[in-house]
Amino acid sequence: MLIIMKFGGTSVGSVDALKNVVKIVADAKKNGHDVVVVVSAMSGVTNLLLNAAHQAEAGNEQAASQARVEIDNKHAEATRHFLGDSPQRDEVMVHVRMLLDEFEALCHGIHVLGELTPRALDVIGGIGERLNAPQVAAILDHAGLSAESVEATELIVTDNCFGGAVPRREATQIKSQARLGPLLEGGKIAVVTGFIGATEEGITTTLGRGGSDYSATIIGRALEADEVWIWTDVNGVMTADPRVVPDAHPISHLSYAEISELSYFGAKVLHSQAIRPARRVNLPVRILNTFEPDHPGTLITADYKNNGKTVKAVTAIKNLSLITVSGPGMIGITGVAGRTFSAVAKTNTNVLMISQASSEQSICFVVPTPDIQKVVNSLENELSREIERRDLERVKWEENTVILAVVGAGMKGHPGVSGRLFSSLGEEKINIIAIAQGSSEFNISLVVAQGDADRAVKAIHKQFALEKP
Ligand code: ADP
Ligand code: ASP
Ligand code: MG
Repeated sequence: MLIIMKFGGTSVGSVDALKNVVKIVADAKKNGHDVVVVVSAMSGVTNLLLNAAHQAEAGNEQAASQARVEIDNKHAEATRHFLGDSPQRDEVMVHVRMLLDEFEALCHGIHVLGELTPRALDVIGGIGERLNAPQVAAILDHAGLSAESVEATELIVTDNCFGGAVPRREATQIKSQARLGPLLEGGKIAVVTGFIGATEEGITTTLGRGGSDYSATIIGRALEADEVWIWTDVNGVMTADPRVVPDAHPISHLSYAEISELSYFGAKVLHSQAIRPARRVNLPVRILNTFEPDHPGTLITADYKNNGKTVKAVTAIKNLSLITVSGPGMIGITGVAGRTFSAVAKTNTNVLMISQASSEQSICFVVPTPDIQKVVNSLENELSREIERRDLERVKWEENTVILAVVGAGMKGHPGVSGRLFSSLGEEKINIIAIAQGSSEFNISLVVAQGDADRAVKAIHKQFALEKP
């Protein structure tokens, strides 16, 4: 089999974790598999890089030098442990320091200009993966597993939406096969940088935070791999975020439809877009634990498997705002909804959920809080005449809201689920601000105040007895 194995930040973030990585890859090779490894930055590095860039823009150049020292230490420690005094270690550390020079120079430029563009942010954000792929390749190679590092800018072609670029399938397939095919045929392990890609013109882009999962499935599809294994720090996709619900437990099987809802609505264990390339070609994806490699984790495929539960998991996505457009002028007038959403679309903002009461007096929808001001400005601009005539009220919004999503294909055609859901929140005295149900019936989404989010997730988890395997 050809297996794409993606290792997340914590899985490559320490000497102990890296020991497990070596063992996992060695076992796969021993079992006769071809392996492409996709790596994230060492844990914490992407945050250090991005934070330093923002600090530089705000006038503080110190953050970059401090980040540099911290990042250098992480790589120096890992290479010292695995590569000792070898020439390979020198080679990796020369590369690390060259990239860190580049990082400091970029931050200096941002500091001088006082401006940080999305394009520059992607170059800086992607440095963590570029530091790490050669390190992991050298560690594997030193352990007798012939490996070579490859920058994904040579493989993944994207549009120029910096910070959340969209891959171009055909160009990516041609490049990936041309570059990685010969390595695999030669029995080598390719170690690819996650998170980044490049436009047709060769400008670096990123696939959004947590994007290395997406890199793995994009490459899996491009190479027509047999499976994608996402190695992380939990035993698979769980019934809820284990940091919020301590007795959450792993789900052994999920369908593509179910995981799409979960990852879209905040289950951080998989990037929200990552399942798409896999789903297109029925490529199985496994979520596995680097720190417990024998645990079967979660298998994700096209079919739905009934585990005897209507609801399989509950997630929450935070830092959202609920916008309401309302007024007597909404009733029966065609086009208000269309104009509302065109005005939002102009700002390039993602609308996560929409809900309209049947009286047509109001539409409300949810957007990420950082986008709130530009969305409200655009709406007031578009609807100014109606607001002036009092056909519409001023646009209202509520910050500090979250969407809870209750997911499971077993809810389809199963009456009583929403009743139980609402009463579990009612008992906790949690106010539901808005509700939407996708027509798939795989997902019911609710908006509640951010302060109620964790309590609500716990109450729903308990109501549907998700703690019981
Ligand atoms: P990686 O660095 O390996 O990509 P992430 O931190 O991005 O790892 O994702 C794994 C984390 O996602 C887990 O440690 C867990 O805290 C969090 N998480 C949130 N919701 C879920 C869920 N439903 N199932 C599993 N993990 C979840
Ligand atoms: N290093 C990137 C991030 O922290 C990508 C990833 O880890 O998947 O967002
Ligand atoms: Mg992740």
